Amino acid sequence: MSRKISEDRKAAYYVGMLLQIFGGLLFASVFVKFTMRFGDFTDFVDRTKSEALRAFTGMALMMIGGFIRGVGAKGLAGSGVLLDPERTRQELEPYSRMAGGMVRDAIDEARLDLGSEPEQVIVIKCRECAALNPESANFCQECGTKL
Ligand SMILES: [Zn+2]
Repeated sequence: MSRKISEDRKAAYYVGMLLQIFGGLLFASVFVKFTMRFGDFTDFVDRTKSEALRAFTGMALMMIGGFIRGVGAKGLAGSGVLLDPERTRQELEPYSRMAGGMVRDAIDEARLDLGSEPEQVIVIKCRECAALNPESANFCQECGTKL
């Protein structure tokens, strides 16, 4: 099972992102142009047709880009193209691990301790004064009696 996202999927992610950016720019340029030529009605129908086509292409590019980006990020099964729960789990594993890591960080931040034994401190009680001394002490820290 892979813990890392494959290079292919990373490449797909960035290609998808570029398509989205390109599509977005194309889409936006239609409106910028439209605003700039506002009130100019020469060849209005023809121009509107070509602008509409560009706007549509831009939108399509954004959608396709978003889809490719999703597949790159989550894999084919992870983004719902393939119905295969086991593969979905596998392809989303890096994210599951990330979520697990975040939970662990949060627990760490909250200073909770899960699963590890409480630290045992061995102490020696002094026969003379009943003071508790660390295991390593040779003499009582309170009264100086040899332990
Ligand atoms: Zn003592």
